[in-house]
Amino acid sequence: MKATLFRGEDVSNETFESVIHLLQSVSGMCRFSGMDESIPLPEKPVLSWSELFDICKKLRINHSIPEDTFIFLLTQKPNFNNFFGYLDVNNPTNGFVHAGDWERFIHCPTELPVAYHIVALMIQKQMVNNEKELVNLLHREPIGCVNDYCQNKKDVILKMRTADICPTCMERLTLKLSPPVINHIFEILESLRIKMLFAQNMRQHLKPSPILITTDYKIMIPDYGQLELRMTPLEKALYMLFLKYPEGIHLTDLINHKQELYDIYSSFSPLGSLTEMKQSIDDMCNALSNSASEKISKIKLNFEKNLGKELAKYYYIKGARGERKRIDLCN
Ligand SMILES: [Zn+2]
Repeated sequence: MKATLFRGEDVSNETFESVIHLLQSVSGMCRFSGMDESIPLPEKPVLSWSELFDICKKLRINHSIPEDTFIFLLTQKPNFNNFFGYLDVNNPTNGFVHAGDWERFIHCPTELPVAYHIVALMIQKQMVNNEKELVNLLHREPIGCVNDYCQNKKDVILKMRTADICPTCMERLTLKLSPPVINHIFEILESLRIKMLFAQNMRQHLKPSPILITTDYKIMIPDYGQLELRMTPLEKALYMLFLKYPEGIHLTDLINHKQELYDIYSSFSPLGSLTEMKQSIDDMCNALSNSASEKISKIKLNFEKNLGKELAKYYYIKGARGERKRIDLCN
């Protein structure tokens, strides 16, 4: 399954980017992309479904998006039926998702429920052939399934917390989608679930999961839907160095770890590329340059993007100015 996301002019670029990032951060069979363009919306306080779907139709034509790729328009404007998201009955790969008001109701950043609903709609499309079937499919009484019909935003919490698909819905889904696709969907839902729990400050019940460096030197958190943290080679070398030193390292002391950084870098980089990178590693170890601090900031942003601010704190390199920097998770 593939989906292309569009940002209504009332949705911030930051929220939009975060939604795409959440969906892309778990690698697998489904593909998500976003169009870097702000879509003008009718100047009305409430939009009709046909207005929203007309925009999707035009976007599909203008951007030559194939019929089997989903299009989702994100907007903060309420729609006439006050739905969180819906697909066009006549063009069921065109849809919208409401990107407003979430924080007030479920106390987590908007991007989490928005990403969840995009996945939920993509699954629903696979399970039904028409609107009548959809009405029958949705569970009026919430059971913690992706197909729970939630009238209120606060009811969405239950299904996001379970991140589950009930056996009846699962049976329908297996008829349409291959196991790797279904597996990817579960992994995305699970990653959203964990991030939501942390965002809602329920972390006291959860322990941050360990980091795994795979044999091909990928930095993964397997428990969060096989999440891979993609970093530049230099960032990766620096991060792996800090993983080796739970007690932390003074940035001024990096110079004494230069050889180790060369070794770590060479372990996952093609032969020969170390010669080109030596200068960059030397810069990183130079206490007078900002290079290491910049990389540490980038690594922090990367974790925050992937895990949310609360959960990320355990994973990035941190420490007060002039003190040892370390990774909390290592202790
Ligand atoms: Zn169900």
